[in-house]
Amino acid sequence: LDLVVSSQLGNCIGKGQFGSVYRALNLTSGQMVAVKRIRLGGLKEDDISTLMREVDLVKSLSHPGIVKYEGMARDEDTLSIVLEYAENGSLAHTLKAFGKLNEKLVASYVVKILEGLHYLHQSDVVHCDLKAANILTTKNGNVKLSDFGVSLNLRAMERQSQNDVAGTPNWMAPEVIRLEGASTKSDIWSLGCTVVELLTGRPPYAEISNSMTVMFRIVEDAGPPIPDGCSEMLQDFLDQCFHKNPAERPSAEMLCEHPWLKNNWGALQ
Ligand code: ADP
Ligand code: MG
Ligand code: MG
Repeated sequence: LDLVVSSQLGNCIGKGQFGSVYRALNLTSGQMVAVKRIRLGGLKEDDISTLMREVDLVKSLSHPGIVKYEGMARDEDTLSIVLEYAENGSLAHTLKAFGKLNEKLVASYVVKILEGLHYLHQSDVVHCDLKAANILTTKNGNVKLSDFGVSLNLRAMERQSQNDVAGTPNWMAPEVIRLEGASTKSDIWSLGCTVVELLTGRPPYAEISNSMTVMFRIVEDAGPPIPDGCSEMLQDFLDQCFHKNPAERPSAEMLCEHPWLKNNWGALQ
């Protein structure tokens, strides 16, 4: 794979768990791409197999709402995962740059997030780490779900077990914390947390610094606090996402029909 990764400062577009993400030029197609570069030196065998599962999974997915896999390169000490470049970066970047978002814009993002989630869930994949930092947008405001590092492939049961705790505490569903098994409904809970994040700039329980306490509250509370000033329809949407029992949470497909989305649809059209 022929790529130029600019060494100029400023071309690092993101920092991840194992490495950094750079903007690069594909010398064959002339297209700008994103390269997730991971230094393999020092990583455990376990981490490397996690990374390879991420590559296999993203390779197998094909949908406009999912970041597109372009290729991979591996040498002695780096693994480069080449992905479609989402010019606007993550929604976490958007929040940092522009502050909290209004309901109408959030609703139009959520419609697109749900389309990607519906595709994933139909493919029997649970994202397991849905949050603003893992949702990318293009310059036209199209949404691309990304970062399948801890995702669960229910067909292959690739990850050790459905009962691992994976994800980021503030966005985690109670059944995941209780080791009762993640399902597609766990992503719906995380979607609710992401909606709170987009509206307020912070996910639920952000004021608590200890992640054990956060997880305790998620399991014990009736539901995460709903931010002040939400419309009634949005409150209902969040209540649906935050059913403690995953069986009572609607699917991505059902949520697409929610009046909050119908009412706000068109903000980005
Ligand atoms: P990690 O698994 O370590 O969290 P991510 O895949 O989430 O790594 O990438 C880290 C950050 O890099 C993202 O939050 C985002 O800001 C940026 N990023 C990742 N992939 C792309 C991409 N294809 N286009 C633009 N920015 C990206
Ligand atoms: Mg990430
Ligand atoms: Mg990851």
